[in-house]
Amino acid sequence: MKMQSQYIFGTICSIDLFEDGTEELYAGLFERLNQIERKFSVNIADSELSFVNSNASEGPVVVSREFFDVLKFSVDFAEKSGGAFNPALGSIIGLWGIGTEHQRIPEKQEIEEAKKHCDYRNIILNEADDICSVMLADEKLRLDLGAIVKGYAADELVKLLKENGVTKAIINLGGNIYAFGSKSNNPDDKWNIGIKNPLKYDAEPIVVLEVNSTSVVTSGNYERFFIENGVRYHHIIDSKTGFPAETGLASVTVINESSTLCDAMATACFVAGTDAEFIKNEAVPGKIQLIFITQDGKIVKK
Ligand code: AMP
Ligand code: MG
Repeated sequence: MKMQSQYIFGTICSIDLFEDGTEELYAGLFERLNQIERKFSVNIADSELSFVNSNASEGPVVVSREFFDVLKFSVDFAEKSGGAFNPALGSIIGLWGIGTEHQRIPEKQEIEEAKKHCDYRNIILNEADDICSVMLADEKLRLDLGAIVKGYAADELVKLLKENGVTKAIINLGGNIYAFGSKSNNPDDKWNIGIKNPLKYDAEPIVVLEVNSTSVVTSGNYERFFIENGVRYHHIIDSKTGFPAETGLASVTVINESSTLCDAMATACFVAGTDAEFIKNEAVPGKIQLIFITQDGKIVKK
């Protein structure tokens, strides 16, 4: 069966299994994506994330192992990235509403107020006798895992592909890509993955990567935004200012076999900029590759 697509995570998600693509396999993979969305979405009222947001400031809430693990990875990564990646930004993200019908520039005081409730250290994680719980030590703190959940979902699909003996696939969850396996029996025959030109809609890719068995994830200021008085307000927020991150970048692409790591890292690098200290510690040479595209079209590789 040919490539299949569904609208999940607020974006188009496509899976191409080539000759391994049976109806049943596609159905199983999309069901897994829908399951992940139902658990982690901030826009679904009865998701596990919404339940935690509404209840965990009153006391510890028992959560699934899966939810706990993704949140723990997120809190750890927030620590590593000095808060550039921040899973506790829900209050500010809600104010801006970028990509929703109520998107707007919030008042200065609203931002200042919301900023006080974005400290990821107030996410208290507990694990005892295999029971996982989360508490929010700030009643206005709201979780948002939108910067990592597509990466996590891509890794979950990869597990299913392996279990089902699939040899090659291309997963594309709204620009969050996994090139699974090799394109052919010849290991030199690589997948070509294009990085969108963030400066020119509909232009040719600005870089074409040749890869096998890896994820390629991009965070960019062109994905979700609005323009007011000539200023672009996009969806990646800097916790320090409460405003869309402004570091002269148009996009950051991260290449590694863990799509979860790529997703968190791409968002963090977009916020922190090319010279951030944590990048030196996290971007293991030869293992995690970074490609920054600046707003004036320069390509910086690390
Ligand atoms: P991404 O496209 O992976 O960079 O994720 C952007 C999405 O993550 C946004 O739409 C928000 O839901 C959320 N987000 C925005 N800024 C941050 C940030 N600094 N850290 C973590 N999540 C963020
Ligand atoms: Mg991300």
